[in-house]
Amino acid sequence: MTRLVIRGARLLGAEAADLLVEDGVITQIGSLSVPRDADVLDADGLVALPGLVDLHVHLREPGREDAETIATGSAAAAAGGFTAVFAMANTSPVTDTAEAAERVHDLGRACGLTEVVPVGAVTKGLEGAELAELGLMARSRAKVRVFSDDGHCVHDARIMRRALEYVKPFGGVVSQHAQDPRLAGREACCHEGEVSGRLGLPGWPGIAEESIVARDVMLARHTGSRVHVAHVSSAGTVEVIRWAKAQGIDVTAEVTPHHLVLTTDLLAGYDPVYKVNPPLRPAEDVEALREALVDGTIDAVATDHAPHARHDKEHAFVDAAFGMLGLETALSVVSDVLVQPGRLDWSDVARVMSTAPARIGRLSDQGQGLALGSPAHVTLVDPDREVTVDAAASRSRSRNNPWHGRTLRGAVMATVFAGRVTHDVRDGAGTRRELTNATTSGANL
Ligand SMILES: [Zn+2]
Repeated sequence: MTRLVIRGARLLGAEAADLLVEDGVITQIGSLSVPRDADVLDADGLVALPGLVDLHVHLREPGREDAETIATGSAAAAAGGFTAVFAMANTSPVTDTAEAAERVHDLGRACGLTEVVPVGAVTKGLEGAELAELGLMARSRAKVRVFSDDGHCVHDARIMRRALEYVKPFGGVVSQHAQDPRLAGREACCHEGEVSGRLGLPGWPGIAEESIVARDVMLARHTGSRVHVAHVSSAGTVEVIRWAKAQGIDVTAEVTPHHLVLTTDLLAGYDPVYKVNPPLRPAEDVEALREALVDGTIDAVATDHAPHARHDKEHAFVDAAFGMLGLETALSVVSDVLVQPGRLDWSDVARVMSTAPARIGRLSDQGQGLALGSPAHVTLVDPDREVTVDAAASRSRSRNNPWHGRTLRGAVMATVFAGRVTHDVRDGAGTRRELTNATTSGANL
């Protein structure tokens, strides 16, 4: 039997306690005497959260291993405190069959740093025309429950309706990338307004998101099925979701760390690191998103971690790829902008970054709130540590990091996945492991 004692952590930010982990399961909580054969992880002064769960990442494998692999993405996830990540289907080939989903699932298991849960495509090849093998993916070894054409909107209402009907019997959910292609086409890359006009960039208006979400919540009501809104970016979308929840419609939503902080005026220098889909919005939208996360209208924080190789990202703004890194900085961003000012406490962070996303994605052994008998997925956070983000130090294979050079308060110090330490940068105690990590990621680069 393997034994680990996590000593003196403040559980969800409340009083300090020890956790005994035996064979990956939390078996005792309280003031414990350390068994002789146990490893000890000293967490004095740290906050313990249930392992973080990310509903929305792009790991690029198979097909674009020059940007990220399941191994490098898993290492970035562990460093960010994540014990489960949902890998989007827009790989090459697309995850639109049971075999493709099982391959991602198996590669994630082989890495063993975090649970890698494949998201299945809604339509074959993400082409929006014909439903993918939703049932076969759900019944596969990968047990797919979240389906998304992310990167593309399921814009055909009939296909969206069929997908919602199809996933209902097995408790699946359709995660929609809401972007009406007639209102915001492929070239749209800047919030439509004063900034897009001044910079001469194709506009991406909030209404292109809001109108799809309005339609989808009505389809969810009509079918009695579940819809999830990916990366909400506009205040208008928040209003629609708030209304839909008040009607009892089964809708959930996520917001990215970048949409909680970064604003459209950052595009003034045409730096492609700020090019993301949906685009950065004005400060009014950012504030509406923060409010919605605080009041529960938005259920979860999801990173939309989107690594890109230099040769895809370092172009003129209009030609560069969409997307930014997020796994390693998400907790620090949420801590800095919402916990430090007192708008969320640590139990709220546990809700929006672990419990809610695990529930939405139907992961039964994640997001359980550090309860007795639950799998030991634990994230240890130093709430007072200031970190200055260094893009070059990332575990990700890519460097498109919009947080580079920023100082954020609150940092992940260690991650425990199924009772095993997958990341550890605590002072002194973590030095040896840090070196091991550095060697591993160096070998991958
Ligand atoms: Zn998307």
